[in-house]
Amino acid sequence: MIIVMKTEATESQVMAIQKHIRELGFKDHLIRGVERNVVAVLGAVYPELLDEFSVLDGVDSAVRISKPFKLASREVKEEDTIVKVGPLEIGNGRLVVMAGPCSVDTEENVMVAARAVKAAGAHMLRGGAFKPRTSPYAFRGHGEKGLKILAAARAETGLPIVTEVMDARDVDLVARYADVLQIGSRNMQNFSLLDEVGKAQKPVLLKRGMWATIEEWLLAAEYILSHGNRDVILCERGIRSHETATRFTFDITAIPLVKRLSHLPIIADPSHATGKWYLVPPIALAAVAAGVDGIIIEVHPNPDHALSDGAQSLTPANFEKLMGQVRTLAEAVGRPVAPPIEQPAKKAVKKAS
Ligand code: PEP
Ligand code: MN
Repeated sequence: MIIVMKTEATESQVMAIQKHIRELGFKDHLIRGVERNVVAVLGAVYPELLDEFSVLDGVDSAVRISKPFKLASREVKEEDTIVKVGPLEIGNGRLVVMAGPCSVDTEENVMVAARAVKAAGAHMLRGGAFKPRTSPYAFRGHGEKGLKILAAARAETGLPIVTEVMDARDVDLVARYADVLQIGSRNMQNFSLLDEVGKAQKPVLLKRGMWATIEEWLLAAEYILSHGNRDVILCERGIRSHETATRFTFDITAIPLVKRLSHLPIIADPSHATGKWYLVPPIALAAVAAGVDGIIIEVHPNPDHALSDGAQSLTPANFEKLMGQVRTLAEAVGRPVAPPIEQPAKKAVKKAS
């Protein structure tokens, strides 16, 4: 249920409603709008509550939310959510590009990748220090050492970092280095991890589970939002289908559908969806045309030697070419690429150790 406040409702009327919600044993969640404020009531609400709240001072109406996800829903918040990451605003109508290697391997590779993607116009650096691998014998990431390498690349280029956290026990550690915490596809329904990133003070990039329906995905976002972290970015990264020629099946329809169902920004990951570098550019462009707020692309200076996902990684030259195409298309569909990130002032750059 949501309580829609009158446009002229005072702050103290809003606070009185929040207090009343808590006194009844529910959780409240205030959503400030441009026109009016809305207070969501979280918990097992019963029909009589609608009448009870609709007559209170400052209340315009009390409305039942039909969707199982509430805080993620457009019914609760009509306006698009804009997630701020340093100087960036994700979801403000300008396309944000995240790029970098699948996993942090060597400091040199990450630095070369970071400089290259920055020069081509990317706004954020991606790279995994904790890697979810299907086989326990595959390279599983350098952990904190990898986070330090990412931090060194950020210090030099100014690019904010998005990196995965796989375990609830590592959220504080990863949050010390990352600008955005990534929840990988395989962990989309790791509810204790969702609870933990919901309490973190960092934006969360929530990848769609490869088996997840859109409703399950938005309910996973709800876990994070319900803890008070409102900065959730959704990421469509392909789902399992009967097709084996591609790694996953990119669900292009999810983009406009999620935009309709939710106010949260959504980005596309054509690298993991396709699994093949030469399929990445066309799917990236399709996602831009379908209305994403950003794209995330795997780029490696030497894909043949990457420790993970080399087959789907673009070379810096191919990434630069894609950026040119993205710029043209994004302009044509009225969501131009965000301005470049400024170079940080030159200072002694600490080497990661
Ligand atoms: C990744 O981004 O490196 C990754 C492992 O992606 P996903 O969780 O979508 O498979
Ligand atoms: Mn990868």
